[in-house]
Amino acid sequence: MKNILTLALAICLFTTSWAQIKSPEEYLGRKIGTKITPHWKVLEYYKYVAEQVPQQVKYQQYGESVEGRPMYVFFVSSSKNIVRLEAIRKNNLQLAGEETGNAELVDMPAIVWMSNNVHGNETSSMESSMMTLYQLVNPNNTATKAQLENTLIIIDPCLNPDGTERYNNWQNGIIGVTYNPDLYAREHSEPWPGGRVNHYYFDLNRDWAWQTQSESQQRIKIYNEWLPHIHIDFHEMGINAPYYFPPAAEPLHEVITPWQREFQGTIGKHNAKYFDQQGWLYFTKERFDLFYPSYGDTYPIYSGSIGMTYEKAGNSSAGLGVYTDQKDTLTLVDRAIQHHASGMNLVEVVSQNASKVVEEFKKFYKQANDGTLASYQSYVIKHEPANEAKIRSLMELLDKNKIRYYTAQGAFKGIEYATKKSTTYNAKDKDLVVPGNQPKAALVRVLFEPEAKLVDSLTYDITGWSLPYVYGLPAIASSTKVGATIPYKLDKVSNTIGDSFGYAIKWDGFASAKTLAALLQKKITVKRSEHAFKLNGEDFPSGSLLIMSSNNKSVNIKKSLKEIADQHAVKVHTISSGIIEGAKDFGSADVKTIKAPKVLMLAGEGMRALNVGEVWHYFDKDLQYPIVLVNPKEMERIDWSEIDAFIMPSSTYTFLRDKTQAESFANWIRKGGKVIALESSVSQLSAQPWIKLKPMKQDTTLRAKENPLKPYAERERESLKEYTAGAIYKVDFDATHPLMYGAKEYYTLRTNGTLYQYFKDGAGWNVGYIKENALMSGFVGQNLSKQIKNGLVFGTESLGAGSIVYLADNVLFRNFWDSGKLIMANALFQVD
Ligand SMILES: [Zn+2]
Repeated sequence: MKNILTLALAICLFTTSWAQIKSPEEYLGRKIGTKITPHWKVLEYYKYVAEQVPQQVKYQQYGESVEGRPMYVFFVSSSKNIVRLEAIRKNNLQLAGEETGNAELVDMPAIVWMSNNVHGNETSSMESSMMTLYQLVNPNNTATKAQLENTLIIIDPCLNPDGTERYNNWQNGIIGVTYNPDLYAREHSEPWPGGRVNHYYFDLNRDWAWQTQSESQQRIKIYNEWLPHIHIDFHEMGINAPYYFPPAAEPLHEVITPWQREFQGTIGKHNAKYFDQQGWLYFTKERFDLFYPSYGDTYPIYSGSIGMTYEKAGNSSAGLGVYTDQKDTLTLVDRAIQHHASGMNLVEVVSQNASKVVEEFKKFYKQANDGTLASYQSYVIKHEPANEAKIRSLMELLDKNKIRYYTAQGAFKGIEYATKKSTTYNAKDKDLVVPGNQPKAALVRVLFEPEAKLVDSLTYDITGWSLPYVYGLPAIASSTKVGATIPYKLDKVSNTIGDSFGYAIKWDGFASAKTLAALLQKKITVKRSEHAFKLNGEDFPSGSLLIMSSNNKSVNIKKSLKEIADQHAVKVHTISSGIIEGAKDFGSADVKTIKAPKVLMLAGEGMRALNVGEVWHYFDKDLQYPIVLVNPKEMERIDWSEIDAFIMPSSTYTFLRDKTQAESFANWIRKGGKVIALESSVSQLSAQPWIKLKPMKQDTTLRAKENPLKPYAERERESLKEYTAGAIYKVDFDATHPLMYGAKEYYTLRTNGTLYQYFKDGAGWNVGYIKENALMSGFVGQNLSKQIKNGLVFGTESLGAGSIVYLADNVLFRNFWDSGKLIMANALFQVD
C-alpha cells in the first residue's frame, strides 16, 4: 500500500512538474505582442523554462553587448540529446573536418540555429521566440516531443540587446493604455539613431564575416564552435509588405550547392502550405539574394548551413499596432504569431529530413576539404616588410573566421590581383597561403576570389569585397595547389629601448597610426619626416615618425614607447645622430611636429546613423583617439577656436544651406581648421561658392543613344545600366602626398558614380584618381561604367590657413575596408 502511494505520489509530482511549465502568456500575464517585453524579462522567461525542464533545455552565456547586456544561447532538444550536448558538438565538428576523429552519422541530430532581433527595432522575433521555446518543451505537444528526438534547436533570443533595448525603452516609455494605430502618432516615429543598429550604430546583419563589432565577434565564435546545419535569421520589413521566406532571390553565389538550393525550396514549400491554410500572404524568390557574405543567411550558407532570412511586415514604425496602406491593422500580436509559425514549421520539416540534412552537411564539408568547392586552388599573399602590418591585420580576420593559412612554398601559376594577368611565381620567405581546400573553403572562395560571377545583377548590397583589394595587399590567386604544410607565423614584436638621441617608427600601416594616436595622448612630442630616409641601412618611407629625446624631457618616453609599440606590433628604431643621409636632417624645418588635433563630428537627429557610427567606432575602438560628438542642434554652442579637425561623414548638412552659417564655417577653415569630408558631404561642399572642387559633368550622350522604344517590362534591367551597388576600382595616386603615406596600392569601393574634376592651376591637389579600365571587381551598369574614369576620388584643397580633405568614397566602409583606415589617419595626422 505504502509503495503504491509513493508511486502514485511520484507520478503525481512528475506530471505536475511537467504541467507546471507556464506558457509565456501565463508567465507574463498577457498575450505575446500586447506589450513589448524587455530584454531582461525575455531572458528571465527563458531561464525559467530551463529550470523547469533542465533535462531538455540548457543555456550558455557567450558574451556581453557593448553596453553590458548578457548574450545567451539556449539549447533545446530531447533529454537524450541534451545529456550528450558536448559529444554532439564534437561529432559535428568532426563531420566538418574541423576536428579530427571518426564522426558518427547514426543518432546525430540535425542542428537548427534560430537568430532573433539582430535588428533591435524588428520586435516580433524575440517575442515570438518565447512561444517557440515553450511549444518545443510543452509536455502536451506530442509533435515537438517526437521532433526533438532527431533535432537540436539552438536559440539566440536576441543578437542585438543594445539596439533592442533602445527601441523597447522608447516604445514602452511613450505608449499609453492602448496603442494608437495612426501612422502619424509619435509611437510610429522612432527617434535617432533607431534600434536597428547596435551601440556604435552598426548594422550587425552586415557584419558576420568582418566581425568589427564585439557582439559579432563573440557570437560567431560560438557559432563556429557549433556549425549548425540550418540557420534561420528573423527580420521585419516595411509595414505594407506581407511575409518573406525562402527560397531566396537571385543572385545566388555559384558556390552555393544544389542541395542548399533544393532544401531552401523544400523548407519554403513546407512553410507555404501552412501559410496557405491560414490565408496569410507571402512572397519568395524576390529581393533577398544570397551574395554578399556578411549576412545572417549567406555567412551560414558559406559555412555549410542552410542559411535563411525570414521577414515579416513590421519594423521601426510598426509599434504595437499600425494602420497599413491596405486599411488593415498590423499588430505585434500577428507579427509574432507568424514568425512563431515559421519557426515551428522549420523544426517540423527539418525533423522530417534530419538524417538527410546531416548527411548533406557532411557532404558539403567533404567537398570543402577535398577542393571541389574551390575555384582557385590557393590564394597567396606576398610578404614584404612594408606589408607586415597589413598582413597581421588580415590574419586577425582569418582567425576570427577559422580560415586556415600557412607559409607558402614552391613555384606556382596564377592571376595577379593588381594586374589581373597570369604570372608564375616562386614563394618567398613569409609569403602567406590560404588553401582553397579546407573546412571553410566556400567562405575562402567568396572572400578571396578576384571576381565573383554574378548570375543576375540586381543585388541588395555591394558586389566586391575580395580581401587582397580590401587590405591593399599584393596577391596571387593560384590555379595550382601551393605548398601549405608549415604553420604561418610572424615574429612577435618586443622592443628593447635604451637611451638614445631619438627613435624612429616607419609609417607603413594602420598600426603606425594607432601607435601615433597613443603617443600623442601620452603628451609625447612626435615629429614626422616629409621625406623618405635611410637609417641603420633600412628604408623609412615618407611620414615616418620621429621621437627625439630632447623634445621629450618631461615624459618617460622609453617606457611609453615600449608599451605602446609592443601592443601594436610596431618596431622602434634607434636614432643615434641628427644627420640624415639622402634627406633633410632631423633638425630641418621640413621635419614637423605633429599636433594632437581636437576632432569633432556631428552626431544626432538628421545625420545618417550608419555613417556617423563608422567614424565613431573607428575613433573609439580602432584608432583609439578622442572625438567630440556634437548634436547638430547644439552646433551654435561649439567653441570652434578649440577645434582642429571637423569630420563630415556622408549626411545632409543643413548648415551649408544657410549662407551665414556656411560663411562662418568657411571662416573657421580660413583660420586654420581642417575638414575631412566623406562621400556625399564632398558633393555638398563642392556646391559652396568658396570651394574650388567641382564634380565631373555627366556624359548625357550615353543616355541619348538609348532605344526610345524600350519595353516597359525591361525597365528594371534598363535602370541597372546607370547603377552600381558597390564595386572595387583601382586608385592611382600621388604617393608623395601625405594623404597616401604608407599606402603601397589602393583600391576603393565605389557605391555611386560621382567623380570630381581634376584641380588645375594649383587650386588643390589631385591625390587619388580613377583612370581608364580601373574596375577590378564587382558589378557596374554599362552606362555608369563608361563614366567612371579620369576623375578625382581623393584630393585636398587649401582655404586660407586651413584645408579640406576630400574622400569621395567611404574609406571606413562598415569599418572592414582595412586599407582605408590608414587614409583616414593620414587625413588627420599627416595632411597639413
Ligand atoms: Zn532586419
